[in-house]
Amino acid sequence: MQKAAEIIAGNVERVKEKIAAAAAKSGRTAESVTLVAVTKYVDAETTLLVAQAGCEVLGENRPQQLWAKAEQLQQAQQEVGFCWHLIGHLQRNKVGRTLPLVSLFHSVDSERLLREVDKAAGASEVTAETLLEVNISGDEAKHGWQPAEMPKILEAAAELENIRVIGLMAMAGLQTTSDTARREFAAVKQLAESLEPACGENSQMTALSMGMSRDFDVAIEEGATIVRVGSSLFDGVDRR
Ligand SMILES: *Cc1c(COP(=O)(O)O)cnc(C)c1O
Repeated sequence: MQKAAEIIAGNVERVKEKIAAAAAKSGRTAESVTLVAVTKYVDAETTLLVAQAGCEVLGENRPQQLWAKAEQLQQAQQEVGFCWHLIGHLQRNKVGRTLPLVSLFHSVDSERLLREVDKAAGASEVTAETLLEVNISGDEAKHGWQPAEMPKILEAAAELENIRVIGLMAMAGLQTTSDTARREFAAVKQLAESLEPACGENSQMTALSMGMSRDFDVAIEEGATIVRVGSSLFDGVDRR
């Protein structure tokens, strides 16, 4: 049997090739797309294998799991060199503990949360980078703002001194076909362009976090600059 490290290294290589191919198809370089390796399916030991296979950004969707892994891998993080992104829902009472561990919040989805991140960043004298989560599929079960709410949120963000909004995050609807996903991704790109004039000095619409294992190539073709890929990295590996 192949060792987990080898399997993961092969999976990472395949995902990176697919990223490069999709980027080339839309006239961009592979470097213009950031791969967030989503490690929520595996323990800290296997998570480290992903970093060692050349993934510089690791993503977790649950704050508590991120805290636990960040602690377990603290030493390794310095040796291997990787950073954490929080890609899932964040409760306001978990902001303080999460802030020092992550370099980007993907899923800020309420004005109260945005203000809480700003407050925590101010207290730590740092600037927190965030994306704003938009609910593009209109799915009521999903987090995120409706597109029409975004100008108002950007206006509120412009008043906050300790955050920097760098773009949007979106998830395609769960049941969607790749054609529907493509339309949703294109709509996010269009929304970002239309919001450009509404951005204050601390905001920009350059980053688009969209696309997961089943559709990250489509997302890149439609303008994603960040893709969040989990399952594809662990094909053939035991999950916890
Ligand atoms: C789990 C997760 C992903 C990765 O999904 P895969 O289908 O496993 O690639 C991406 N984004 C978010 C927010 C997630 O929770």
